[in-house]
Amino acid sequence: MLLFKRNSDLNEYIAKKRAEGIKIGFVPTMGALHAGHISLIKLCRRDAGLTVCSIFVNPTQFNDPSDYEKYPNTLPTDVDLLAEAGCDVLFLPTITEIYPEGAGASKSPIPLDGLDQQLEGASRPGHFQGVAQVVKRLLDLVKPDVLILGQKDFQQVLIIKKMIRHFQIPVEIIQGAIIREPNGLAMSSRNVRLSRDARERAGLIYHALKQIQGRLGTINNSQLLSEAESYLTKELPDAQVDYLIVADAETLQPLTDRDNRPAVLLIAVWLEGVRLLDNIVLMS
Ligand code: AMP
Repeated sequence: MLLFKRNSDLNEYIAKKRAEGIKIGFVPTMGALHAGHISLIKLCRRDAGLTVCSIFVNPTQFNDPSDYEKYPNTLPTDVDLLAEAGCDVLFLPTITEIYPEGAGASKSPIPLDGLDQQLEGASRPGHFQGVAQVVKRLLDLVKPDVLILGQKDFQQVLIIKKMIRHFQIPVEIIQGAIIREPNGLAMSSRNVRLSRDARERAGLIYHALKQIQGRLGTINNSQLLSEAESYLTKELPDAQVDYLIVADAETLQPLTDRDNRPAVLLIAVWLEGVRLLDNIVLMS
C-alpha cells in the first residue's frame, strides 16, 4: 500500500493509473477504522482496479470542539488494517493540504435543499455543510470513478448525493450495508468511548428498530414510535433519544402512516455523552 500526504503526489500517481485505463474507487474516512470501514474497502476492491482510502478528521464538520479533540486516533492499526484488506493507496492529508486558505475560511454554502437542517443537521448546526465541503474537496483531488459510502450515515449519503448532483461531478456512488457488533450495535469509531457495560446494553437500540420494523402497519407510526421510545427509556434509562422517526427515504420528511414510498427508520441516541446513530431501510 502506498501512502501519500501531499495532493501533488497523490494526483501524479492517480493520473498515471487513470491513463492506464484503471478504474479508481474511493473510500473517505476519518480513521479509527473498524470492520464497517473495511467492508467498504472490500466493496471498492470488487468494483474498482485501484482502491484509494483517505483518513482525514475534518475539523469543519464538528460543531462541538471537544468531540473533535476526543475523536479517536488509531493510525498505526488503521494502516495495518488497510494494508491487510488490500487497499492500494492511503491518502493522509494535513489540514493545510485540504484547506490551503485555512479551515475556518468562509465558504459559500452548498445548496442542499434544507436536507442539512433536519435530524442530524438540527442537532449539529453546520455539520453537513462541513461534510459536503470536505467531500467535494476530496473528490476534486482524487477524481474517482466510484465513491463508496456507508448506509450507517444515511442522511450523509443523501447530502453527498445532492452535492454531487449540484456540481455535476461524474462519479458513481455505491452504498455499503451497516456492519454491526455481535449484539447488534452499529459499529462506529465513537463506540470505543462507551464503557463496556453501556456498549453491551446499546445493542437494545437495534433491537428496538427491529421491533418497530416488525410492527409497521399494525398501528400508526406515531404510536409505534412512542411505544418504542418508552421501551428504550425504560431499558436504557441513562440514554436520551434525540430522534426516532419513520421518514421518506429521499426527503427525510416524517411519514405518519404506512406508505408505498421508499422509507427509512432513523434513530439518534445519546449514551454516556456519545451520539449513536442507526437506521433500517424499510423499502427501496
Ligand atoms: P467515518 O470514518 O465515520 O467518517 O466513516 C467513513 C465511512 O464509513 C462512511 O461512509 C460511513 O458511513 C462508513 N461507516 C461507518 N460505520 C459503518 C458501519 N458500521 N458499517 C458500514 N459502514 C460504516
